[in-house]
Amino acid sequence: MIRVGVAGAAGRMGATACAAIESAADLELAGRADPALGAPLAAILDACEVVVDFTTPDAALANARACVAAGVHVVIGTTGFDVAALEGLRGANVFAAPNFAIGAVLMMEFAARAAAHMAAAEIIELHHDGKLDAPSGTAIRTAALMADASGRAAPAIHSVRLPGLVAHQEVILGDVGQTLTIRHDSTARESFMPGLLLAIRRVGGLERSPVVGLEHLLSG
Ligand code: NAP
Repeated sequence: MIRVGVAGAAGRMGATACAAIESAADLELAGRADPALGAPLAAILDACEVVVDFTTPDAALANARACVAAGVHVVIGTTGFDVAALEGLRGANVFAAPNFAIGAVLMMEFAARAAAHMAAAEIIELHHDGKLDAPSGTAIRTAALMADASGRAAPAIHSVRLPGLVAHQEVILGDVGQTLTIRHDSTARESFMPGLLLAIRRVGGLERSPVVGLEHLLSG
C-alpha cells in the first residue's frame, strides 16, 4: 500500500483525486489538507509517502518544497506556476504534469508532430470560469512542444473561460488551401484519474527528478 495525502482536498480536482485514491486497492488515502478543512499540509506529511497537489498557483511551489524537505514524494497537478523552480529540489522525487488525461497527452504529441509540417498554428484553450490561470498549463506546454518541433516561435494562445466547460483545447494548423484541427475535451474530472494514479505509483521510483509531463511515464 502507498500512503497518499492530497493537498487541495476540498477543491474540484482534490475531491475527485481523494475518491480515486480511496477506490484503488494498492493506495491508502492517508490525509487531506485544505484551508476549507482546517488542515494544513504540515499536519499530514508524517502520515504520507506521496502527496498529490491540486491547490493554487501561489501555493504549489511552497507545498512541493515542504514535501521534499520532509522526504515525501510529490505529484503536482496544479498549473500556473513556474515549473523551472522545481529544479534542484532534493530529498524526495517531484513529478508534475499540466494534464493527466491520456487524450490531452496524445493531442500535445500530435500537435507537435503536425507543427513540423504545416506553416502556422494557433491554440484555443477553453476552461470553466473558476480556473485561476490563463493561459492554461496545457496550452503553454503544447506551444513549447510545437515550437521545439517546428523551429518557429511558439503559437499564439487564446483563452476562453465560461461556465459549463471543464477542460478543452483546440490546436488549429494552417497551410496553403488547408487547415488541420486537433481537439481534446475533458468532459469530466475522472478523465485525469488514470494518469494521476499512474504518477502516484511511479513517482517514488523515478530515476531523475523533477520530471515534467505524463508522456515520460507512458511507453509505446
Ligand atoms: P479549486 O477547486 O479551487 O481547488 C483548490 C483547493 O486548494 C481549494 O480548496 C483551495 O482552498 C486549496 N488550497 C489553497 N492553498 C492551499 C494550500 N496551501 N494547501 C492545501 N490546500 C490549498 O481548483 P481545481 O479546479 O481543483 O484546480 C486545482 C489545480 O489543478 C489548478 O491549478 C488547475 O489548473 C489544476 N488542474 C490540473 C489538471 C491536471 O491534469 N494536471 C487538471 C485539472 C485542473 P481555498 O479555496 O481556501 O484557496
